[in-house]
Amino acid sequence: MTTYEAVIGLEIHAELMTASKMFCGCRVVDSVTAPPNSAVCPVCLGMPGMLPVINERALAFAVRVALALNCTIQPHNVFARKSYFYPDLPKGYQISQYELPLGRNGWLDITLDSGKKKRVAIRRVHLEEDTGKLTHTTGGTLVDYNRSGVPLLEIVSEPQLDSAEEVYAYAVSLRQILRYLGVNSGDLEKGVLRIEPNISVRPAGEKALGTRTEVKNLNSFRALAAATAFELERQAAILAAGGEVVQETRGWQEDRRETFSQRSKEEAEDYRYFPEPDLPPLQLDEAWIAALRADLPELPGTRRARYQAQFGLSAYDAAQLSEERSVAEWFDAAVAAGGEPKTVANWVINTLFALLNETGQTLDEAALSPDGLVALLRLVEDGTISHSAGREVLAAMFATGRSAEEIVAEKGLAQISDEDALLGAIRDVLASNPDAVAAYRGGKEGLLGWFVGQLMQATRGKANPQLANRLLREELAKGE
Ligand code: ADP
Ligand code: MG
Ligand code: ZN
Repeated sequence: MTTYEAVIGLEIHAELMTASKMFCGCRVVDSVTAPPNSAVCPVCLGMPGMLPVINERALAFAVRVALALNCTIQPHNVFARKSYFYPDLPKGYQISQYELPLGRNGWLDITLDSGKKKRVAIRRVHLEEDTGKLTHTTGGTLVDYNRSGVPLLEIVSEPQLDSAEEVYAYAVSLRQILRYLGVNSGDLEKGVLRIEPNISVRPAGEKALGTRTEVKNLNSFRALAAATAFELERQAAILAAGGEVVQETRGWQEDRRETFSQRSKEEAEDYRYFPEPDLPPLQLDEAWIAALRADLPELPGTRRARYQAQFGLSAYDAAQLSEERSVAEWFDAAVAAGGEPKTVANWVINTLFALLNETGQTLDEAALSPDGLVALLRLVEDGTISHSAGREVLAAMFATGRSAEEIVAEKGLAQISDEDALLGAIRDVLASNPDAVAAYRGGKEGLLGWFVGQLMQATRGKANPQLANRLLREELAKGE
């Protein structure tokens, strides 16, 4: 029996979070909440005679992404006209880049759940404009041009992924980087990030690529992985039965969990690409590119590796802390403020994440500062409060923005760590339980826990547990 291997390349379209559109001054608005056609002008509506002007910020965002993906930047840039007719494209052409993309020959390192790492080559990163949005209703098709002309970045990988799992890891890592760079929210459901796998299979060992299909309309990572897995099986079954895969664009039907044929694939010639005559060629300044490079944040992959190497965190904890830039920077600030990295990591992951989940806040919106957490951890460390009281204090700090010291004082949570104070309470407990004391001294040492419980009751839970244990043992031993 022939076995088949998968070959997959990803095309990703990311809208850039600029204030205005790619070639006009219209605002970029939320495609879900803004009233339809409320952010449009003659340029993005494709009126004859209107001239585009390049948005510098969009260009800077695009260069940031290309640099973060290790691309070579093409300083001499030409926009190209890609002609086709569709009602969501009022100009009859899209301004894009073709022969001279902004970036090429980059790569993205991915890590699979199994821990396996892989470097995936990135073929090109280019800048273009988004189209309008069509909504099909029973009364006819509606068109909203708010999205028309929004800066759009296309990121194309080489066909080097070989499983649904790798596709998933690649897409998740890329989204993480876009969010780190602050150029895209990564919201697949809103369509601001669109991920399209190009999928083929070939007999194992074969060098030539098989015929591919491209799957569109995937609005979650789960759909991406499921559609890829489905498509791989479908194609392998066709080949195994002696058939041929048709090159086409397919959609994903979430309820039936299968792909379906949408349209046959256009070839590049059909688009009649030519240099956009309304825009001058761009010459990017080397110093400007260098400044953008210097301004890149530490990216998630690098951070993850540093957290493991420098702080000895587990791969899992390092991944959790570096997933979002705001969390990673918050964590770094807490460590810089003197927090012990592993302790801070545990408190952030085990306690703080739960609080954030409950309130739906992000760490930078929360009232808790990194210094505040470190101050709290000092109180736990030096035994002023117990670990569990620490959790209670953290929740109160998180809710009110007040300091750990204030909350500990107000709630009376400080532990009794003073030997004399504790000894007094211990002697009271022993004096009022002579039978238990006699039993302990007669050999029932298992009763120690019971005495600790009595002491905790007497001190309303505030006895420092380590100290309480030691003193109790000593006092009980005295009479033996
Ligand atoms: P187009 O722009 O016409 O869709 P490209 O050649 O630019 O085509 O490729 C788009 C994506 O498809 C790239 O990510 C590329 O890696 C991938 N790709 C190309 N050929 C194949 C193939 N035979 N199997 C899987 N992926 C492919
Ligand atoms: Mg394509
Ligand atoms: Zn406009």
